[in-house]
Amino acid sequence: MEPHVPRTARIALNRPLRRLFDYLVPDHMVLQKGQRVMVPFGRQSATGLVADTDAQPPEGITLKPVRSVCEEWPALPKETFKLLSWAADYYQHPLGECLFTALPPALRRGRPAVEKKEAYWKACGDPAVLSGNATRQRELLAWLQSQPGSVSARQIVQAGFTQSQIRSLQGKDLIVEASQPEPVGVPEEIRNRIPRLSQAQLDAADQLPVPENGFAASLLYGITGSGKTELYLYYLKHFLGDRGQALVLVPEINLTPQTVARFQHYFGSRIVVWHSALNDGERLTTWLKVRSGEPVIMIGTRSAVLLPFTNLKTIIVDEEHDSSYKQGEGFRYSGRDTAVYRAHLNNCPVILGSATPSMESYHNALTGKYSLITLEERAGNARPPHIKLLDIRSRPLEGGLSRPALQAIEKCLQDGQQALVFVNRRGFAPIMMCFDCGHMVECPRCDTRLTYHRRDRAMRCHHCDFQTAATDHCPKCNSDAFKPVGQGTERTEDILTTHFPDAPVVRVDRDSTQRKGSIQGILKKVNSGRPCILVGTQMLAKGHDFPNVTLVVVINADGGLFSVDFRAPEQLIQTLLQVSGRAGRGEKSGEVLIQTCHSDHPLLGTLAQGDYLPIANQMLAEREANLLPPYRAMAIFRVEGDTMQASLRLLDDIKSEASHRDIECWGPLPAIIARRADRHRAQLVLVSLSRTRLNRQLAALCHGLDLMKLPKDTKWAIDVDPLET
Ligand code: ADP
Ligand code: ZN
Ligand code: ZN
Repeated sequence: MEPHVPRTARIALNRPLRRLFDYLVPDHMVLQKGQRVMVPFGRQSATGLVADTDAQPPEGITLKPVRSVCEEWPALPKETFKLLSWAADYYQHPLGECLFTALPPALRRGRPAVEKKEAYWKACGDPAVLSGNATRQRELLAWLQSQPGSVSARQIVQAGFTQSQIRSLQGKDLIVEASQPEPVGVPEEIRNRIPRLSQAQLDAADQLPVPENGFAASLLYGITGSGKTELYLYYLKHFLGDRGQALVLVPEINLTPQTVARFQHYFGSRIVVWHSALNDGERLTTWLKVRSGEPVIMIGTRSAVLLPFTNLKTIIVDEEHDSSYKQGEGFRYSGRDTAVYRAHLNNCPVILGSATPSMESYHNALTGKYSLITLEERAGNARPPHIKLLDIRSRPLEGGLSRPALQAIEKCLQDGQQALVFVNRRGFAPIMMCFDCGHMVECPRCDTRLTYHRRDRAMRCHHCDFQTAATDHCPKCNSDAFKPVGQGTERTEDILTTHFPDAPVVRVDRDSTQRKGSIQGILKKVNSGRPCILVGTQMLAKGHDFPNVTLVVVINADGGLFSVDFRAPEQLIQTLLQVSGRAGRGEKSGEVLIQTCHSDHPLLGTLAQGDYLPIANQMLAEREANLLPPYRAMAIFRVEGDTMQASLRLLDDIKSEASHRDIECWGPLPAIIARRADRHRAQLVLVSLSRTRLNRQLAALCHGLDLMKLPKDTKWAIDVDPLET
């Protein structure tokens, strides 16, 4: 008889540890890679994912057995598992945490992978039969009657009613359960809007890579308003087929009900969405659809790329240059780059679209790794806006606005059009300064100044959550010559309101759009078409279609020109072109005024010509000359500690280790904001010509750090392909 060899499995847990855990597999249990199991961990039970089924049992350690399997099938199918293992390796993040990001919260907690059917309710009785003291029940019944279709129990609770009120009404036969929610109608303005593609769009469509031909990556460079979204819709309609799954990645801000409605109009219930505002139940339902291979068309933000698609036929990454594709903390992956790798694993096409492609993607197109498809005319009758630089070095400004800019706004309103004013700072003013003693109010916890928010009479730090009441006098010398300096959205809003009392001024920034749905209200107001002035931050630059805006004014373009961050010029140019692209999207042509103190700067000069690719070439040449990405692979170690000395010391250790390994190091240096929320932050940049070598050495460095005993409260993180330096 053969000796009984115990079987073991290696299990990944949702823990920030760069290791797997060994367990015994009971005789009756059959495990597959990617399957969900429950295992004992410490004194508790934890959800695990099977990472390896025929591991060598370690010697001399008594292993505990796997408790149970959660379901017979692997929650993470083979290809998704492979993708996440690659990402763990590439971004140097613990495998367990990477794998668990592909599960919805309910499954991370060990809940069963079955959809909880939501109950939908409909009113069917007369509120008059309710006795006098059942006020809330009567209100609920009246509310249900006022709703267009059936309403889910969750929505009822969200509207302020309770489960027990629902049960009472059900007991009295005043409401009935309706199995199906009423389908959401497609708004009229969208229903009437399936345009015929232009010749330029059709030519571009011909060049898009089709699912039958397997992996191919394409960069779709289409100027703002060229009709890229319409092109995606056409592409999916004609090339996806009925049975395949598609993934459309969008930046968070672009996932508006308008975008979704546009897709639903073409594809109905095949459209599913994935973004941060979904609740656990919605996540599980959608996850199960994706996992089961249902032919969904997923419109999702960054993390949708990690979902367990089993029948994925094509991927589109819209606004591929957008920095929100890169996760800024924890598992610092790039959704865009992961999408390209996923397409490769899946042997399906990937299309990266943008009016202002990232240097990385553009470089890949120039070297032939991606094909380049261009769409250089605007859709419909719209023409590209005319861009003009307005040197403000010796001009008097009013609330940051020069005379010519104010005149242009006035003319625009007189013509019955809308104007958009772009300010890169929210709040009233970035600084409060005393004109007697020179004192500026700083954040006590960060190396930054507090921003003055006049609407709520507060001074806030935009880097930590510190805030304090605003004062009229200098806190240091008590002088009343204590004044705001510089421009914020609130201040520009005030100046414009004073100047143009007859035109509504609509502010769009993080403060004015905090409440859920408020951006929708704002967009609706603007799209009603009456003359108005929009004032806002970056938020306005992204993806929105304002057909009646014909004038864009940029208050100050100079912030990014001379920054120490090598990506700042790229981001500045992208923002300027994106915000310029809001002008003249309808029938009337648009004008863009960019106020600057450096109208002779070569990048701005090229920008005024209006084309992105010449600027991109200019910026790439600069990157190449300075040995920067995309010509070098880059990673950053970031450390934060109780003192700057402690942070720098740890980075010095990493540096000497890295130098032995033939990796070039820059720094260590304090971060741009060296102290943030009382933590002292520093960083070390690592670069190499060879991505493979850098990756291998990073793994060794991280392993070394894991074994090191670090001073208490000193934390390190590795950021591969960082967006901020
Ligand atoms: P992008 O995504 O490139 O900014 P969109 O697809 O949102 O462009 O199109 C910009 C505007 O032009 C939208 O209002 C859209 O409905 C319209 N549009 C797109 N293609 C056409 C077309 N072929 N004919 C007329 N209008 C179009
Ligand atoms: Zn003072
Ligand atoms: Zn702060």
